[in-house]
Order: sequence, then structure tokens, then C-alpha cells
Amino acid sequence: MKNSGIKLSALALACSLALSANAATTLFTNVDIFNGTEDKLYEDHHVLVVDNKITKISKDEIKSADATVIDGQGKTMIPGLIDMHSHLCLQEGMLVGRDDYDQMAMGARTYVSLQQYLDQGFTTARDAGCNVLGIAKAINKGLMDGPRIYPSGGFLSQTGGHADTGSFNDQPGRVDDLERHGFGYIVDGKTEVRRAARQNLRAGATQIKVMAGGGVASEFDPVHMTQMSVEELEAAVEVAKDYGTYVTVHAYHDRSVNRAIDAGVRSIEHNFLVSEDTIKRMKKEGVALSAQAAMSLKAFANPESITFFSPDQQDKASKVYEGALQMFKWAKKHELLIVTGGDMFGPAYNTTQAENMTYMQKAGFTPFEIMKMGTSNAAEVLSWSGGMNPYKYGSLGKIEAGAYADLILIEGNPLEDIEVLNQYEEKFQLIMKDGKIYKNTL
Ligand SMILES: [Zn+2]
Repeated sequence: MKNSGIKLSALALACSLALSANAATTLFTNVDIFNGTEDKLYEDHHVLVVDNKITKISKDEIKSADATVIDGQGKTMIPGLIDMHSHLCLQEGMLVGRDDYDQMAMGARTYVSLQQYLDQGFTTARDAGCNVLGIAKAINKGLMDGPRIYPSGGFLSQTGGHADTGSFNDQPGRVDDLERHGFGYIVDGKTEVRRAARQNLRAGATQIKVMAGGGVASEFDPVHMTQMSVEELEAAVEVAKDYGTYVTVHAYHDRSVNRAIDAGVRSIEHNFLVSEDTIKRMKKEGVALSAQAAMSLKAFANPESITFFSPDQQDKASKVYEGALQMFKWAKKHELLIVTGGDMFGPAYNTTQAENMTYMQKAGFTPFEIMKMGTSNAAEVLSWSGGMNPYKYGSLGKIEAGAYADLILIEGNPLEDIEVLNQYEEKFQLIMKDGKIYKNTL
């Protein structure tokens, strides 16, 4: 008995030593802070990071004997950026993988994308569909570098819906190569919707993504199409609520957006072709808009430049471009809760997540509005994942005491010139995620 007591206390000592060794402390001096919520910089401040959290922010000097001190040199400190519409394991469009899909190759390409996110200061990404669930877990376990991921798991799509990647000759009920690898689920009827939603949440999805209308990058669904019945959407919302989280839908026009809101959906992806009345309803009912400026205003302005689009897909893209500019004006006028995400399919798109944010300026938004979309607004929507939120023990998208230590030191002020986001290679001089320094060129 005595022996085991000694062993236990030795173990306790070893554990406490391990804990204190892990609790790295970093003190940033002399930084100008954009806190994620206010249109101003807090100049000449000091920020203390202990382990993976910001613990103290002060205008006065902070004393910490064992801290590694980093002289901020008057640079701007902003929260790590958040992309709200990623497809981390989709590369080169939705249909490309249909015929030659390989999970190993896709995983390796996803890793490259993840490093591109971190390089641009995106320390968090909400994945809007594909099987990134295992990779999200590997990042959380510290097995690989990458942004925090809020995965949706596989898309839920009806037969002939926006994530139906099957071939023309498929019979009902078939499972294609992409589905087999968890890319998405073709579901018809409430039971199939419930099963797929539960399957995603069982594997760590933080919210559910449903295809509720036609789209551009797919084969069988014209843009004007409405997808999923009210009952099917309600079934997805019911399952999400049972897990304490929410549903976001891909939808472009009034009929599909309003049907989704009727069913209890809280977040709309794209929304490009809706009327002002629908925007007013979203405001009234607290429904978030997840907007893609670069896709709608850059890529879709020149759809012929997207090499993997068919002529029909190019035609669909043109229609969306025409609607998007008007929709953005109404969204601004009615002060929707707006977040933004690139919706890029890997490097073939030739557009970055940073460029998506800066393109919001062409949609009529100010640098402050855009910075808020990419930080505290995004974090607000992420928090709706409630019980499924893997990062619920601190705030994201803010520089404040108690926030996760995801932060960037920038040469320049994005509130004055949002274009600095595109110059991340040179101007983002320090990038920290979860208290660990990913890049430092100070
Ligand atoms: Zn998407």
C-alpha cells in the first residue's frame, strides 16, 4: 500500500510538471489591437497569452517573469480570421472526383489547403460539406497543423439535388464513389434525412448542411429549382436541435430560402437571388447570411475562366452574378448578421480565402464591416453549434481576456486598407493559433 502511495504521488508530480511545462506564456508588448467588434484600434497595448488563451490585455505594462516577450513594434493585432464556407476536401469542383476519387490523395491535397489557410491567417474554417471529419479530429489531437475546423460532414442532398454527383444512368438508391467516401448523402424522405444527419453528428459534425435549392457547380439541378420538402428540412432541423446545434442550407432564391426558414433553418449559404422581402424576414427572424463575394462577383463575372465548368454551368454562373450585387445592397441596408467564406475548391479556383474577404468591398461593405464578418460575426454563428462546439471553452474571433489565443500581427491597418489581407505573405508577420506560433518574421 505504501509503495502504491509513493507511485501515485510521483505520478501526480510528473503530471504537474508536464502541465507547467506545457503552459507556455507569451507576452506581446506595444501592439495596436482590433478586438473584432469595434471600429477602432486600442493603441500601445500589451497582451498576455498563457497556454492557449489570452489572459490579460492592458494599456499598462504587464509583468510576467517566465513569459517569452515579443516586441509588437506597434503592429496591428487582429483575431485569427474565420472562413465560414470551406470545402477542405473538395478540390477542382464537385464532379471531378467522381471518376477517379482517391481518399489518400484527397487527404494529402487537403493538407496543402490547410497550410494555405494558416498562411493567410485563417485559424478557423467552417466546412460546408465533404468528409473532413477525421482530419478535424487529427488537428484537435495535435497530429497535424491546420485551422480549427467546424465540419458539416457529408452534404445532405435529395436525388437530383445539388450534391447528387451520380452519373446519368444511375438507378435510385445507388451509392456513387464520392458518397462511399462520405462526400455526401443522397437522401429522400424524413427517415433517410434523419439517418444521414445522425451519421454526420455521430462522427463529429458541428452543424448540418443541407442542399435546399439548385446550384452552379453541379449537373442535374437548374438554379431555379427548390430542393427538399418542408418535412425533410424539418427532420434535419429536429435532429440538429436534438444535438444542440443548427442547420445551414445552400439556397439561392426566395422559394428555397423561405421554405428553409419555415422549417427552422438558421443560416443561409449564398442567397444571391432573393427579394428584399426575404432579406427583411431573415433580419426579423435572426437568420444569418453566409456570403461569397469573390465567387459571385469575380469568378462568376467571368465563368468562362473556370476551366472545369461546362457551358451550362457557365450560364448558371452568369445569372447568379447579376443577382448578387443587388442582394448585397439589401443585406447591408437591413443590417443582416453577415459572415463570409470563399467556397473555393482548392487551388484550381485561382482565388484565395483572403481575396474573398477583400471582394466584400466590391459588394459595398466597409473594411470594418468586412473585418467583423471574418471575426466576431463568424464566431457568433459558430457558437450556435452549442453542445457540438469543440471550442466552447473560450471565445473565437475576438481579442479579449478568455479568448483562444488565435491572433495575427500585421504591418498595416486592415480597418484603413482591407487589401492588406491579400498581402499576407509579407505583411502578416506573426500568426499564432491556439497559443502556438505558426509564423514569425518579426
Ligand atoms: Zn459550397
